[in-house]
Amino acid sequence: MSFKSAYLQQVYDKVVQRNENEPEFLQAVHEVLESLEPVVEKRPDLVEAGVIERIVEPERLIMFRVSWVDDQGKVQVNRGYRVQFNSAIGPYKGGLRFHPSVCASVIKFLGFEQIFKNSLTGLPIGGGKGGSDFDPKGKSDMEVMRFCQSFMTELSKHIGADTDVPAGDIGVGGREIGFLFGQYKRLRNEYTGILTGKGIPYGGSLVRTEATGYGLCYFTREMLASKNDSFEGKKVVISGSGNVAIYAAEKATAMGATVIALSDSSGYIHDPNGVNLELIKQLKEVERKRISEYVKQVPSATYKEGCRGIWTIPCDIALPCATQNELDENDAKILIDNGCIAIAEGANMPSTPEAVAYIQAKGVLYGPAKAANAGGVATSALEMSQNSIRMSWTFEEVDKKLDDIMVNIYKAAYEASKEYGVEGDLVAGANIAGFIKVAEAMKAQGIAY
Ligand code: NDP
Repeated sequence: MSFKSAYLQQVYDKVVQRNENEPEFLQAVHEVLESLEPVVEKRPDLVEAGVIERIVEPERLIMFRVSWVDDQGKVQVNRGYRVQFNSAIGPYKGGLRFHPSVCASVIKFLGFEQIFKNSLTGLPIGGGKGGSDFDPKGKSDMEVMRFCQSFMTELSKHIGADTDVPAGDIGVGGREIGFLFGQYKRLRNEYTGILTGKGIPYGGSLVRTEATGYGLCYFTREMLASKNDSFEGKKVVISGSGNVAIYAAEKATAMGATVIALSDSSGYIHDPNGVNLELIKQLKEVERKRISEYVKQVPSATYKEGCRGIWTIPCDIALPCATQNELDENDAKILIDNGCIAIAEGANMPSTPEAVAYIQAKGVLYGPAKAANAGGVATSALEMSQNSIRMSWTFEEVDKKLDDIMVNIYKAAYEASKEYGVEGDLVAGANIAGFIKVAEAMKAQGIAY
């Protein structure tokens, strides 16, 4: 784990010292700093301004108690977080995750990644992230509502339309955003766009639900086109069956591919004829059931326990869309041995560093999360714009803007990789392109923040 640049090594050592029990955060920082080796050589002015030391330290980390009452009348206590990582180019922006694995390390890794991702979209949004170790799974709607109201009672003190605008992430979908928005409005007597991913009747944007999954496919289409290839006739394996996975599957299918597998945290389904997405939406979005239910209605499909095994299914394109570190080096080997030609990340940091190194060494097309899944936050920024001007754009208008943004992100990442001597390395390209814009802004704004 060593850097060529002594300066970067020094910055990283300090980050380790300060955050030694935060493996996810350290993994995310290490990956970005590695990409910045050529920047350190080419841009001594940014080193001089101490931008790299500053960018790895959050501007603010808020941690708070969330107490609520369950259906049995028992008091429950969870922990809430919001990291306001960087506001150099716009208000903090990033989702809220409700999952038992949420801790400071996970929130900080996500918030850190968000800085560069948001910058890459070309839109004026800074980096933030938040959430709680609350698990919405198995809770009644009323329990989820009481939790969200308590969570927002504290969070409302720290966010605002021009300060920090959260959105959804794992465990936070339309239902949770509705409860959170209602509570903010009640507390502040103010109708502003303080959250994105809202329902259409109360200020949401068309395409926001579909945006991350659709955007992932637009980005993957650009990667494939660089090799004169396309989704047409390809077999696609997608992990997860949440918001990102479902709409990635929908768009990949619309582009001529066959999606043959999906998963949840319990196991995966394999349907060689192509997954029936209407049934998946009914089971996961409406009935909130396990994916194993699918095979009861589609007997020709198979279900296996254990989500990891999904990568053993031979496919042309793999889209990890569940969670961090869900695809390791061994999974990458199996995928590539089975003929996989492209891997693009819908989830945040789903591939381990060893898997990424292996995929890149094999010359397989690889779309890193920061670039490939930026469509969600980009459309959130479009929702903020519509809220500000109190207008709503049509589905086609937003979808076209999303498509253009994803094409531009691909170009920006590719061009940066070329300019900094690592042509075609989209990991480095995305990190560098995202970093430069934020770094310029931080340098211009002085060092007293
Ligand atoms: P959802 O909560 O809608 O879905 C998450 C899916 O991943 C579920 O199928 C869930 O299964 C599965 N999953 C969760 N944890 C694990 C685990 N440990 N192992 C295997 N499967 C797991 O979340 P999203 O679809 O919104 O988010 C998925 C990923 O995409 C996350 O990494 C998120 O940060 C990222 N992302 C999301 C964006 C968005 O707009 N929503 C934007 C950019 C990135 P189960 O139901 O069993 O828990």
